[in-house]
Amino acid sequence: MRKGVFVTLVMALLGALLLNPASAAVKAGTTCTKLNQKTSSAGYTYTCIKSGKKLVWSKGVKVSTPIPTPTPSTSPTAIGDPVGSIGSNPIPLPTASPTISQTPAPMVNLTVRELALKEVKARWDANKNNVGSVTLYLQPDLPNFVSNALKDSATNAMRLYGKDFLPDATLFAGTKSDWYTKTFCEYRYPSEMWTACEADSHNGPGSGSGWPQEFPQVDAYGAVYGAITKTSTSGTEYLPSPAYIYLSSFKDKNSLSSSVYSSPAHELFHALQQFQFGGGDTTSQSASNISTKLKNVDCSNYLSQCPSLWVEGSAFYFGYASAEMSNPGILNNQGLPLKPNWLTSERFTLDQVLQWNVSEMMRSPYKGNYTYLAGGLMTEALVAAFGIQKVFEFTKNSSLGLTDTSYTFATNFKRSFGVEWISWSSKADLYLQNSLDGKVTYAKDLDIPVRN
Ligand SMILES: [Zn+2]
Repeated sequence: MRKGVFVTLVMALLGALLLNPASAAVKAGTTCTKLNQKTSSAGYTYTCIKSGKKLVWSKGVKVSTPIPTPTPSTSPTAIGDPVGSIGSNPIPLPTASPTISQTPAPMVNLTVRELALKEVKARWDANKNNVGSVTLYLQPDLPNFVSNALKDSATNAMRLYGKDFLPDATLFAGTKSDWYTKTFCEYRYPSEMWTACEADSHNGPGSGSGWPQEFPQVDAYGAVYGAITKTSTSGTEYLPSPAYIYLSSFKDKNSLSSSVYSSPAHELFHALQQFQFGGGDTTSQSASNISTKLKNVDCSNYLSQCPSLWVEGSAFYFGYASAEMSNPGILNNQGLPLKPNWLTSERFTLDQVLQWNVSEMMRSPYKGNYTYLAGGLMTEALVAAFGIQKVFEFTKNSSLGLTDTSYTFATNFKRSFGVEWISWSSKADLYLQNSLDGKVTYAKDLDIPVRN
């Protein structure tokens, strides 16, 4: 929806940067060889002292280091990696002693963004062997720099979401072309219906949306429409909706809009939402369940589709957070920048945005952008405050709203996070308003304890 400037594709994976070379761990009380020798390990200095007849390492004395001031930057190292975070060595806790004063726990002062990204990276690292499968239908003549960015986005997303939350998915990406229509028709219909499908312009994905619009860069937008049926002689089968990515023309262009990096991951988060809403064991079962249960998409009755603040906000945050795995800085620069350039003086609180439905967003591009941004920041604050697993579970739990009309966003919030929405939303509102004012927010500003 929003157009960004070109972001250099940085291929270095953040995960690799987080791996500290494991230095030989020194432990207080273990033997050493040379009296008064000093060594440091994991932020502590140890001295070789005499204990009885033995030479042993002393209790560690914390090496004082200045508290790093996190600065939003495109440098991958700026995304919080304090001592004790993922991948680094655990800090040996000094045992209480009457002679050495207890060293206070090292202070970490992370921004909400850094803390949430730490959560994201921890899940991404841990999910190496928990990746759902994704079938990609990529237009064959796409230039490599376009198809690679799309593949990266989809693979990062599948790994971040994990197969426990999204076991499999299908994604189409291409320009408005015969290839798109043909591939879509062959996916959805039995062969005897292909010709009819291809002849019907209404069957073309993205029809009526103004696609393709032309931009100076290769641009993308996407959609997930909901479960679809595949009819054949053996009956009707439900297919989970694929994620559709629509690309602008790539002719004579050599740069990408940030949307190309984030859209596949954004749409795959919608696929995750669908799978979770349906509550089946497989994506097809979920698709079938949704079709049975879902009578309409009235926000007031069916939480699973609503509110847009949450449905779009979470897809928006995780779309860019996934992209961040291969493109450090994209979240700060393109996804959720401070004081976005489209902002006017018109401000809304999260509770106000919560009331908007999809048609209201469609009517006003400003409200549309505002919904993605506000929901994205709210999701980020939730990840920082409660952890990414809880946030994914919040999505899963919202499926109760599909059949129980009394199950509201606030009910689900309380059930999933254990706190009242009405009391917590003021923190997310502060984060939103700070960001709109161009002000960086620290976890402590929202009373979010920083876990080590
Ligand atoms: Zn979306």
